[in-house]
Amino acid sequence: MATLYINKSNLFKNLDKISSINPNILAVIKDNAYGHGIITVSKLLKEYGIKKVCVRNIDEAEIIKGFFEEILIFNPTGARNAKNISYSINSIKQLKKNKHPYIHLKIDTGMHRNGILENEIREVLEICLKKNFKIRGVFSHFCCSEEENSDTFIQYEKFKEIKEKIEKFCKNNNLKKPIFHIANSTALNKLPDTFDFVRPGIAMYGGIEGYKAIMSLVAKGVSVREIENDGVGYNKTFFSKDKIKLTTVDIGYADGIPYFKNGCQLKETKAVGKISMDYMSVLGEYKEVVVFDDIKEFVKNFDTITYEILVKMSPRIKRVVIE
Ligand SMILES: *Cc1c(COP(=O)(O)O)cnc(C)c1O
Repeated sequence: MATLYINKSNLFKNLDKISSINPNILAVIKDNAYGHGIITVSKLLKEYGIKKVCVRNIDEAEIIKGFFEEILIFNPTGARNAKNISYSINSIKQLKKNKHPYIHLKIDTGMHRNGILENEIREVLEICLKKNFKIRGVFSHFCCSEEENSDTFIQYEKFKEIKEKIEKFCKNNNLKKPIFHIANSTALNKLPDTFDFVRPGIAMYGGIEGYKAIMSLVAKGVSVREIENDGVGYNKTFFSKDKIKLTTVDIGYADGIPYFKNGCQLKETKAVGKISMDYMSVLGEYKEVVVFDDIKEFVKNFDTITYEILVKMSPRIKRVVIE
């Protein structure tokens, strides 16, 4: 079977780099920790000293609730009484139906995907006060932080203003001051101030420049053959005049590799022809083939982003931590 290796020292180096900007990290481990394996990654984060994480839904929070002091659920439904679980409040409508006492208010400062609108904040705070909700955090999300443009600063300034208002409200009503957080990975080095906590995902996993990739995919050879003046695979989109050796390895598009019709550059060799559901053919004779060890390189084969390939790595593939 193929194996996904998770490189602990690279993860820790990425965390060191993030910590040098702001040591208070709300680590984003939604969607099976971007495909790396939510339990595998949670154990490592706990070992590093991470105390707070963000997940997608309640099912994910349940899996890892023993690991952390606080788990923020981005898209919660239903109610859970666990004290270490916080719900993101993504709209005033959701707040009115909410029964979970520990919350983070998500504010729409410009992405317009979800979040409480600026002119709803006053009412939202009054509801929280009346219903005795504990506002543990207030946050927002950037729409364009991977680009060099002014949206990030407009959102930053807006968030700063909102922070002052909410802090004033809390002080006047004797409420505990919430933590404020807005910085995703690509905003980390762009902001004058990263507020109380930072909220990185892809940087931890090394899916952007400046950070070390932590996932490598190693496939096993299942058979070797020679062809000459012949093709390989469905529709024989690859053809060789010369006599060559090919190894079939045990990874295909069912495992999360994006579909390709005519080859793909791997770490040391090339896949040729069309990828099959469970297999692909590579040039040369191998017992094992490194499909990728840096997602930033592998993604260049496809019209997609590092996030998508990582997150779609099949949970069936075994995750193994290496030092
Ligand atoms: C996914 C997500 C993040 C992390 O984003 P990266 O680009 O991976 O750093 C942060 N905040 C929210 C609300 C998210 O949905």
